[in-house]
Amino acid sequence: MKIEIDADSGFCFGVTTAIEKAEEELAADGRLYCLGDIVHNGRECDRLREMGLEMIDHATFGQLHNAKVLLRAHGEPPATYAQAQAQGITVIDATCPVVLGLQRRIKKVYDEHPEAQIVIYGKPGHAEVLGLVGQTDGHAIVVASIEEARQIDLRRSTYLFSQTTQSVEGLHAIVEYLTTHIQPPAEFHYADTICRRVAGRLSGIEAFAQHHDVVIFVAGKKSSNGRVLFEACRRRNERVHHIEDAGELQEEWFAEADSVGICGATSTPKWLMERCARRIGEICADKHPQMML
Ligand code: SF4
Repeated sequence: MKIEIDADSGFCFGVTTAIEKAEEELAADGRLYCLGDIVHNGRECDRLREMGLEMIDHATFGQLHNAKVLLRAHGEPPATYAQAQAQGITVIDATCPVVLGLQRRIKKVYDEHPEAQIVIYGKPGHAEVLGLVGQTDGHAIVVASIEEARQIDLRRSTYLFSQTTQSVEGLHAIVEYLTTHIQPPAEFHYADTICRRVAGRLSGIEAFAQHHDVVIFVAGKKSSNGRVLFEACRRRNERVHHIEDAGELQEEWFAEADSVGICGATSTPKWLMERCARRIGEICADKHPQMML
């Protein structure tokens, strides 16, 4: 039996950079706060916690003074930076450059077109979306689906943006609806702001899933990028299992399997996929597993 880890799965550059910044600070200081989970992966968070990283929520952030806080790749709204300044907090800004670029574009449109409505295709309440909505003083409308997009006031000029991890198909459906239904003289403009590190992964991971008898998808259950990629695997292979760690692997999943593929989200560390591969090797020892790590 072959066990293969998908070479393209694992951290994107935004997450890699945020973790490297945290590691640098921890090596120098031994202690650092991070606003929210640095990555939607519990095992990687545990590893960094052991190094001295303390992940805090906004309520705790509000109590801090003269501390050092890392802002993760998802980004934060302007109010967080203002609060940090007022409380003497030193910000280590690890906002992904792709997210930062999107925040700036939204702010520019908001400043230049106060009469228009800004619509963000994204998950309500998601940290990145809160950071995007913050660029518009909270005025942007968030839609999670084409059904919600149908509720938009079509008599107002509309600018559509997307959370970086949304699906390209979902965005295209909304673009098509708004292009054909906007009521002139209102105008419709959109920007495809989906991160290609995620969108580009879809076809690759589908091919990988199709290529194996059984697929083990390793990712935190809170990762939205993880959900999109897991669904892509499931479209091509019914025998796909979403786990967070090797302890969830079950022997019966590998019955009559000659090849097992292991893949994950952009928030899944490589070491975790390797740990799952080793565990599958132990479970299926009688099948003489060959590791392709
Ligand atoms: S998925 Fe893309 S936008 Fe999001 S953190 Fe990674 S590189 Fe940045």
